[in-house]
Amino acid sequence: MKRTLFFVFSLFLLNISSFSDELPTLPVAPYLPAQLQEATEQNAPITVQYPYENLTLPRGATQIFIFGQVNLKLPATLDINGQDVPLYKNGAFVAFVPVETGDFTFTLTAKNKDATVQAVRHVKVLGTDIKDFSQEAAFDEDQVFPQHDVELLPGDTINLYVRGTPGASVYAQLSSFKHGKDILLQEDPSQPGTYRGTYVIEEDQKHKTSKVIYKMKEGPNDTKAKVTAPAKITVRDNQTPFTYAEINLPGVKLRKRPTASGNLYPDYRAYGPVRISGQMANQSRIWIDGKQTAWLENNRLTPLKDYEETPNTLSFIRTDTSDERTRFIFTLDRPVPIQIHEYKDRVELTLHYIDEFEQNFSLDDTSPLVSNIQWTQREEKTVAFRILLRKKANLWGYAYRFEENELILDLMHEPTRVKQTGKPLAGARIVLDAGHSPKRTPPYDGAVGPTGYLEYQATYALAQDLKPLLEQAGATVLLTRDGENKMSLQDRYDFAKDQQAHIFISLHYNALAETQDPLAKPRGFTVYYAYPHSFDLAEKVYKAFVKHVPLADNGLLANTVLFIPRMSDYPSILVENAFLILPEQEELAKTQEGRASFVKALYEGIVNFYK
Ligand SMILES: [Zn+2]
Repeated sequence: MKRTLFFVFSLFLLNISSFSDELPTLPVAPYLPAQLQEATEQNAPITVQYPYENLTLPRGATQIFIFGQVNLKLPATLDINGQDVPLYKNGAFVAFVPVETGDFTFTLTAKNKDATVQAVRHVKVLGTDIKDFSQEAAFDEDQVFPQHDVELLPGDTINLYVRGTPGASVYAQLSSFKHGKDILLQEDPSQPGTYRGTYVIEEDQKHKTSKVIYKMKEGPNDTKAKVTAPAKITVRDNQTPFTYAEINLPGVKLRKRPTASGNLYPDYRAYGPVRISGQMANQSRIWIDGKQTAWLENNRLTPLKDYEETPNTLSFIRTDTSDERTRFIFTLDRPVPIQIHEYKDRVELTLHYIDEFEQNFSLDDTSPLVSNIQWTQREEKTVAFRILLRKKANLWGYAYRFEENELILDLMHEPTRVKQTGKPLAGARIVLDAGHSPKRTPPYDGAVGPTGYLEYQATYALAQDLKPLLEQAGATVLLTRDGENKMSLQDRYDFAKDQQAHIFISLHYNALAETQDPLAKPRGFTVYYAYPHSFDLAEKVYKAFVKHVPLADNGLLANTVLFIPRMSDYPSILVENAFLILPEQEELAKTQEGRASFVKALYEGIVNFYK
C-alpha cells in the first residue's frame, strides 16, 4: 500500500516541573492517522483525532466528545481540562467534556512515571446568542426572515422568525398586506432571543409585495430596535398560480419542507416540466396534486419561460416479460413526477400531471411475479396503479426510468443460478462495498478512530477478509473499490448495475455527532435496509450479528434516507459493524483477529439468505 507523508510535526516532550512558574505555549495535538504513525519515526506524545483543530461546533453545544491517543509508555494517566479520562490498553481515549461558548481550549495532560506531557486543541463554540445584546434592544441581522425572496399564494402561512435581545416584545410589520400590521411574535422558551409568529395570506391581495420589518419594544433600559429583512414577500395570483420549470436532474428526490437537508419524501421522484407554486429559501414549491406539494432546490430547476401546459395523456400500458424481469411500459405525452412504493404484496405506482387516461392495456400473463394490475384516480390529475404480486412471488427489486415519453418500470425476478452441492453460494454475484474513500486530511471521508484508523481503511480490510470465504462457497464477489481509489455513492450504484449484481452489501463503521455522549449507552452494530425486498437479507445478517458479534445490538432498522439501502434494483443493505470512535471497537476493526466475528456474521447471514 502506498504511503505518503502529509504533514510534518515538530514534536517535543515537555517536562512541566521545569517550567513551574511560567506556563509555556503548548503544542497543538496533531492528528496521526495510523499509517502515518508507521511511516514516521517520530511519535507525538498526545494525538487528538477529534475535534479537528479550529473546528466550529454547533450553536449552543455544552458538551462534546474528544478522542485520541496518549503515546507514552503505560501505565499512564490523562486529564482533560481537569477531568480524569481512562486510557485504553493501547493508550487510546474517548471522553465527553464540557465546553463553553466562544474560543475554547482543551488542555490535555498525560503523565507516566518518567514524564508529563501536555497538548492543546482549540475549537470555537457558537453561542445561543451570537452578540451580546444584554444592555440594549437589538436584532441579529443574519437571523431575520426572509433572507431570500418569498413567493406564496393566498391561503399560505408565512412563518416569521427573528433573533435579538431576549425578554423584549417583538412585532412584525408586513405593511402592504391586509391585517399585516403589528403581528405579535412569541419568544421561544427553549431558545431565548428567538421570536416566532405566523401570518396567513388573505385573499384579494394578489401581486402585492411587502417588506418585512421587525420592531422591538421594552428592551433593556427602555431601548427600542428595528430591522428590515433583506428579502421581500410577494403574493402570487390565485387565478394563474403556476410558473413552470424543467427538472435538470431527472428522478431527483423531493423534500417535504424547504430545508437545507433532510425532510425528503421517501418515494417521490421528479421528472419533466413541473408546476411551481411558490418560492422560499432558494427552493421552489412544486405542485404535486390538489392536496400535496413538495420542495426542490432552485439549482435543480431550469425555469421555462412562456411555457404553455398542454394536456398530458396516458395512452397505453403494456408489459414485456423476459427471464430477468417483468417490464411495464407507460406511454405518455411527456415525463411526469411519479411516486413509487413497494409493499409486501404489491408495488404501487402513482403518476401525477395526467389529464387523460385512455385505458389501453396490453398485458401478458407470463410474469412469475405479477398477478393483476388495478388502477384508480387519486386526487386531481393523479392516477395510481396497484401491481399485485402473485402469492409466494419473490420480488428481487425494481428499477424505473423515463425514456423520452415512456416510463419503464422493471420488476426484477430472482436471479437464476445453478446450484452445486457443497457450494452454498454457487452462481451468486455479490457486491461487497467497502464504504467511504481515501482522504488523509481532516475532515475525513467517514469516521476516524482514536488511534487514527480511518473508516475507508477499516471497511476495505473487512471486505478483504470476507471475499475469499464467499468465493470458496461459490460466489462471484465484486468489490466496489480497490484499496486507494475514490468512489462516489453514484459510482458504486453504477458499478453494481454494470456488474449485474444480485445483492449489495455495504460495510461501514459508525460514529456519532459530537454533541452526543458516546459513553451514554452501549454501542455496537446496526443493519439498515429500506425496502421489503431487502428485509430478508438484512434480517439474516442481523441475526448472525446477534449470534456472533460480542457488541451491543443497536438494531435492524428500516431507513429510507440513506442512499445505499435505497438502491432498489436488488436486495441492498448497509451494515455498521461497530463504533470506530470507541477505543476497544476501533481495536477490533484494526486486526484480522478482531474482525473475525464480523466476518463470521456476514458470511453466515449471506449463506442463510441464499438457503
Ligand atoms: Zn460509514
